[in-house]
Amino acid sequence: MTEKTLYLNSGKCSHAKCVFCGWGTYEYPKLSFNELKEWFDTRVDEVETLKIFNSGSFLDNNQVDPKFRKWLIKRCEELEIKNLVIESRPEFVTQESLNEMKSNKVHITVAIGLEVADNEVLKNVNKGFTVEDYLNAAKILKKNNFGLRSYVLVNIPFETDESLEKSIKIAKENSDSVVIINWFPHGYSPAFNLWLEGKHKPLDKTEFEEKTKTFTNVEKDFDNFVFKPLWPKNKQRWINGATEKELKHPYYEIWQDFIVRFYKNKRKNVLFVPCAFRKPYTRSKLHKAIRRALFKIPNSRELHLIVISSPGVIPYEFADKYPFNKYDWKEWEETPEIKQMYIEVNQKRIENYLQTHKYEKYFCYLRPDSESYKALHNACDMLGIKIIDCISDETFEKIKDEKNALSLDEPLEDLKKNLVF
Ligand code: SF4
Repeated sequence: MTEKTLYLNSGKCSHAKCVFCGWGTYEYPKLSFNELKEWFDTRVDEVETLKIFNSGSFLDNNQVDPKFRKWLIKRCEELEIKNLVIESRPEFVTQESLNEMKSNKVHITVAIGLEVADNEVLKNVNKGFTVEDYLNAAKILKKNNFGLRSYVLVNIPFETDESLEKSIKIAKENSDSVVIINWFPHGYSPAFNLWLEGKHKPLDKTEFEEKTKTFTNVEKDFDNFVFKPLWPKNKQRWINGATEKELKHPYYEIWQDFIVRFYKNKRKNVLFVPCAFRKPYTRSKLHKAIRRALFKIPNSRELHLIVISSPGVIPYEFADKYPFNKYDWKEWEETPEIKQMYIEVNQKRIENYLQTHKYEKYFCYLRPDSESYKALHNACDMLGIKIIDCISDETFEKIKDEKNALSLDEPLEDLKKNLVF
């Protein structure tokens, strides 16, 4: 069966207050009837099933012009589209709104984010409707021969095992299909703070599978959007200093949790490199020099660059993400105690990372007298991993007191020589 999903950005969710949702808070310009028709006609193909997703409600007149909904059904009939799936909050599922969309040729399903069938939890997550509102919408849909697809969130804040079971049961009893979706904290949602404060954590794949293994006849969606920690702009402050507070900053811990439990790397070999004072590192003299040297190495695309710095393990593709692009670990403020703590904290972070991410070969381009080097070597020793140092002792002895020593030609020549894979 051919299927296509269209994403419609028009207006704003009428509620926009669910604590776990960041999408609903965006306000897009409301598209006019003509713009909506053009939007549709330039995207649609001859498919059997068409899904239209818009954050909020397709049946809300403030988001989607009712004239367009009528037009859409006629257009779907002309295009011989058999199934149309749209999304809505329950309060917009009314006899009037369904009358506009009735068709003998297109079967229409309304997807409702029930999330949880428990009024107490719905209230806590500020969903803005009750289980009874959902059941009422289900009744109207059934009476009009429309389908109902229900979304239930797993691991939503304030959920209990009991409320999850109850939600699946009620959703199954009233819907044609049920999707259980893993909850991830949207960057722009209030629930993101719960993760930041260590009060609530997203489930990784194994945990999600374990939690949902007894639920049958439902679709399971572990990661329905590309999840990574995203900080709202108003929370993106510089993290400056070289004390325990900065080293163990909760923002860093969130990323380390993400990198260990959710992040997947596809490259075969790894090269650990130092950070740079200039942010993002990619603009620094050192990182430009390293990348120039790597450019000359065959298969260097198979090499995964990882920065070791005060935030911990930083895969290179995240170097321009907050907070990796907005911190200064002021080395001149370091005390012997904080240096020791840096080694211990980062050793643990590296161990956690390397326990879940395996490579064929492990290379190191860090200053041998640095705390990052010690943390990396200690971690590799603990895990029995052979790490290849890419700067010879002789070279390092020669250049160690130079400014920006690792960007000089001699160590970079060593790097090129040692990177054999
Ligand atoms: S979850 Fe749905 S109803 Fe709630 S704010 Fe987001 S888009 Fe709106």
